[in-house]
Amino acid sequence: QGTIREFEYKAEMKQLLNLIVHSLYTHPEIFLRELISNASDALSKARFSQLTGQASEGDGELKISITVDKESRSFVIEDNGIGMSEEELIANLGTVAKSGTLGFMEALRQQQKEKEIDANLIGQFGVGFYSVFMVTDEVVVETRSEGHDACRWTSSGGGSYTIEKIDRKERGTRISFTLKEDAAEFAEEYRLEGIIRKYSNFVDFPVYLDGKKANSVAALWQKSKNELKDDEVNEFYKFISVDYQDPLDYLHVSVEGVVSFKALLFIPQEAPMDMLYQQGALENHGPQLYVKKVLIQNECKDLLPEYLRFISGVVDTEDLSLNVSREVVQSSPVMMKIRQILTSKLLGWFETMAGEQPEKFRRFYKAFGPIIKIGLNTDFTNREKLIDLLRFESTLTDEENYVTLKDYVGRMGDEQKEIYYLSGESRKELLNHPNLEYFRKKGIEVLLLTDPVDVFVIPSINEYDKKPLKSIEKADIDFSKDETGEKESVSKEMVAPLLHVFRETLGDKVEDVAESHRLVSSPVTLVSGKDAMDSQVERMMKMMNK
Ligand code: ADP
Ligand code: MG
Repeated sequence: QGTIREFEYKAEMKQLLNLIVHSLYTHPEIFLRELISNASDALSKARFSQLTGQASEGDGELKISITVDKESRSFVIEDNGIGMSEEELIANLGTVAKSGTLGFMEALRQQQKEKEIDANLIGQFGVGFYSVFMVTDEVVVETRSEGHDACRWTSSGGGSYTIEKIDRKERGTRISFTLKEDAAEFAEEYRLEGIIRKYSNFVDFPVYLDGKKANSVAALWQKSKNELKDDEVNEFYKFISVDYQDPLDYLHVSVEGVVSFKALLFIPQEAPMDMLYQQGALENHGPQLYVKKVLIQNECKDLLPEYLRFISGVVDTEDLSLNVSREVVQSSPVMMKIRQILTSKLLGWFETMAGEQPEKFRRFYKAFGPIIKIGLNTDFTNREKLIDLLRFESTLTDEENYVTLKDYVGRMGDEQKEIYYLSGESRKELLNHPNLEYFRKKGIEVLLLTDPVDVFVIPSINEYDKKPLKSIEKADIDFSKDETGEKESVSKEMVAPLLHVFRETLGDKVEDVAESHRLVSSPVTLVSGKDAMDSQVERMMKMMNK
């Protein structure tokens, strides 16, 4: 006790702090959201270990208290959550342990180019605590975790921080500082009340502001569907996701039967940039899992199949025990059942949206269609439903207008036995494709596949409504039966020597040269053999082998 030790920040950390102090200024009030959210996390952990018997200290109401003083501009936020040991203090507040920091700085740099730096970003990257340096020059954190000595951590956001042992009886964390002059507004109660209501209304613990409760603490998903107000639900969405926009739509689910659970699920308006391809996108996703209103897991990816990973929200069940471990969660029959029911509810919801709110569905499909399609190859139980959700542009639609396979089959002529598609990079490129000429002339609709994922999933459909799906690049389409009429027919004897010359000249470069009836105005075209890969698949394979 009494000795104060000083620690240097690592270089990246200094850089980060420098950026926060000097570049973040658009939403300084974010600091409060971040501190409350950390306190709430610490309280969740405390509640969890109390309920599971790991913690022995069950001291009273779990809560967050904020006290401010206008005169001295002092600000104190305190929680009786899990607290931190000395090692945890160093690891959590002294080092950039999380890769988030670099991501955050990159995002800042991007925004700096556009002159608008938004402090909102900070919470997304797991560096929220440091936003406090927007409103103060020096922070003191006093904390105690059960079974450890209490410590005081002090930093002025420069190159170093200090740690000393202190006397502190209560478990939990107290963060105190003096507001900068230009941040004096955050010592005003009415201002803080507004911020708490805006950003932290749904925090699962009471937030007391100078002794008065300032948030509403409601488990929205426990309400019945008709009690829910859109505004409230939208705010809740923004609170649990890091989105600043309203969701595109939400679904309330209440199931009682073999398993019982309630859920509130959201579709965002837009897909995050890395949703489809980045590794991380597969790791961090999924709704929050609650058991009897207690948060068990923040991103519980076992609740939904991977192809629904853009759905966020809350699932609360009574059928799991509170001290369920992550491994048990994964393999529990209850989880499997919940996942199965949720998947089917979600697919049904999308289908209903398609029928009743076509414009909304169009936006939804544009953003998430590429992800959902992956389900065709992974979720065979719901394959039919997924196939019905598919949408394509075609030679008969305008740009960004879609047809279903059902539409397509519905307007096929009597003669037509197959569903035709053509895949490529863009609609424009496809519309100029010589292989389309014949179909256009005959008025046969061709689906235009421009999503790179299409070539992996569409060929696997094989047939729809007993009609085979066929790429028009495949050579076995028999056009010879179609009378072209105006064209003079050319005899076999005349064609043979010509084909011979082509074969000689092109040699190994092609598999074969054949006479074609499919062209209308172009002299030649390249097609794939009937056992060969579609040219678009070939292109993708080449890209991936690079
Ligand atoms: P994040 O919350 O995304 O992890 P922060 O920068 O906000 O990132 O916080 C860093 C870490 O510091 C937290 O993960 C947590 O371990 C610790 N921490 C911050 N505030 C508290 C608190 N009030 N009680 C206990 N631990 C805290
Ligand atoms: Mg945080």
